[in-house]
Amino acid sequence: MSKTFEKLQPYLDKSMALQAARSLFEWDDETAAPYEAAEYTSKVIGILSNEYMDSLINDEVRKLLKKLQEDKEQEELTETEKAIVKELAKIYDQLESVPPKEYRAFNELTSKSSRIWAKARKDNRYEDFAPYLNQVIDYKKKFASYRAKKGKKAYEVLLNDFDECFGIKELDEFFNKVKENLIPLLKEVGHKADTIDKSYNFKSYDISKQKEFCRFLSGYVGFDFNRGVIAESAHPFTTQLHNHDVRITNRFIEDNLESAMFSIIHESGHAIYEMNIDDSLTQTLVGGGTSMGMHEAQSRFFENNIGRSREFWEPLYDRLVNTYPENLKEVSLENFIKGINKAAPSLIRTEADELSYPLHILIRYEIEKMIFDGEVNVDELPKVWNKKYQEYMGITPPDDANGILQDTHWSQGEFGYFPSYAIGSAVAAQIHYHMLDIMPFNQYLLDGNLTPIREYLKDSIHKYGATKNTNELLKDMTGEEFNADYYIKYLREKYQKLYKL
Ligand code: ZN
Repeated sequence: MSKTFEKLQPYLDKSMALQAARSLFEWDDETAAPYEAAEYTSKVIGILSNEYMDSLINDEVRKLLKKLQEDKEQEELTETEKAIVKELAKIYDQLESVPPKEYRAFNELTSKSSRIWAKARKDNRYEDFAPYLNQVIDYKKKFASYRAKKGKKAYEVLLNDFDECFGIKELDEFFNKVKENLIPLLKEVGHKADTIDKSYNFKSYDISKQKEFCRFLSGYVGFDFNRGVIAESAHPFTTQLHNHDVRITNRFIEDNLESAMFSIIHESGHAIYEMNIDDSLTQTLVGGGTSMGMHEAQSRFFENNIGRSREFWEPLYDRLVNTYPENLKEVSLENFIKGINKAAPSLIRTEADELSYPLHILIRYEIEKMIFDGEVNVDELPKVWNKKYQEYMGITPPDDANGILQDTHWSQGEFGYFPSYAIGSAVAAQIHYHMLDIMPFNQYLLDGNLTPIREYLKDSIHKYGATKNTNELLKDMTGEEFNADYYIKYLREKYQKLYKL
């Protein structure tokens, strides 16, 4: 090991430990802590966050980083160490350019604005949220401008934080394909969707039985209970301390069978990615998934490409029917598969089906671009939002709560995040076609044997953690970089077959 890197190691270890402690508190906050804990515990989390920052951003680490970036030092580093140095440089780029005073003020603002947002959504009053949103946007523009290299747009800077492979050019190209192909497809499908009877899904499903079945599903797709736990929270999510401690949550709705089942498969997909990262990488700066897009690709691959396929349910469906015979014994597998794939234009992103989902993201992407290009001001946003929903989905939100106020992301300053969701689905489709090519994929599903599928994902994606980026992983796995044509092809083929278009 290089002498310089050796000196860096204790700083990295300390930051890792502080990060793990912070994650544990955040997890606890969402799952187990009593209602009144939040305000006081946030002080603990605040201090841990500052300590985390200080452990990485200080004169000593800065000096070591500079040295490690020199050519002759680089020669002495292993590939993993090089990746860690690159990651550390990224963190410096993100945090160092912002004056600490402004950074603190921004964090205070966002914690306030997310509370204001939650209330504004409940009260359906966009005007209460607008002034805060305006300030958040101003900060984000300012922070991005500190970091933007010459000629780089603010929004480009924000996008690259989530995935270095996807900037405005790549996303414009991607969303143009989405627009051209999926809007007409959804229109076609929408007319036929009404004929699918999905009433079974909204009958009463005993929650304790749901829990049992979801736990079974999670293990079935490959969640390792020796390395992970499942709890409940208001919104399902995944967090990890390291690859031997990965935690997911679920939520249960009595009169909705699908909700918890597909949430658990989705979160299990995230968890499997983290659990499969190589032991030599975990607890380092490159010991997590490589990008938001690649993470969503794994969760959506399990949820949609696998979990909504007929082949997946064929060996499982009887078990589901036997769990709820009173509701399902008259529902054929055929009908169930159509039900879980029912697609139609909709207003709420998180409840959208696989086909309309990318259109929700398209709308947010276009609006974010307008915001950072200065083409629209905050007061005009609801109008722009509603117009785009009418144009792309053919429906107009009845109010802002069901429109522009539905997502929490902007209140927390998370601009540039949304595209990862759609990119994830597209990457999942590309992986799916590749795997259909090289292995008896559907036969594995019919046999109820997901091990070879999971092992292949582990060997081609998961184990590398963040040492390779999205395109490097795809190229090495499938022979080509990101290609959205697979996504369009996947959705077209799937819905043509289901709806006999
Ligand atoms: Zn996810």
